[in-house]
Amino acid sequence: MADAASQGARVVLLGPPGAGKGTQGKVLCERLGVPSISTGDMLREAVTEGSELGNKVQGIMASGALVDDATMADVVRDRLAKPDARRGFLLDGYPRTLPQAETLAGILRDAGQDLDAVLLVDVPEDELVRRTLLRGREDDQETVIRERLRVYREKTAPLIGYYSERGLLREIDGNRPVEEVTARMFDLFGVGAAEAAGATEAD
Ligand code: ADP
Repeated sequence: MADAASQGARVVLLGPPGAGKGTQGKVLCERLGVPSISTGDMLREAVTEGSELGNKVQGIMASGALVDDATMADVVRDRLAKPDARRGFLLDGYPRTLPQAETLAGILRDAGQDLDAVLLVDVPEDELVRRTLLRGREDDQETVIRERLRVYREKTAPLIGYYSERGLLREIDGNRPVEEVTARMFDLFGVGAAEAAGATEAD
């Protein structure tokens, strides 16, 4: 992955709700020059617009449950077909289930592409609840957060083994100050902190 920044990269961000995927994803995709694709953001936009998709997912999201795999497959397939995703992408919030991981593998296979890495950002559960309560989004009441964590453990955590077996998993400790997590992440991708700040173009 040493050339990640110059060649584009296909990266999945994995981790429980509240781990900081959004925060870290934003800096990483800027550095890698690839679009950040957050299925949660896309669905929230659909809800705000009141589109057919938005109306379908609104109640599901508010309860902390997952939108069905077939609906998500359409959303992600359409998004990855856009020209800006050709050089790469940073996927945040997808896949969230084993069938979704298989769907993603199929989409990439059809396009003759491969994932470069799956980045797991992990944080202990009490800290996750504390952070998400601070965030104060509509789906961030404590009961809904607990439900999202339960769904994460049941449906999404198995992806850790799935990607580990495929040699793609990279892990960072998300329970550290934001800058430290960022530095560690840039290390993993072979893009140093100085370069990340735009100081050199050595690679
Ligand atoms: P988080 O706070 O966990 O980062 P997101 O913003 O990624 O949450 O997603 C918010 C909600 O959107 C989820 O709780 C779920 O209802 C729905 N959602 C997002 N991505 C997916 C997906 N890949 N599969 C099913 N549901 C999803």
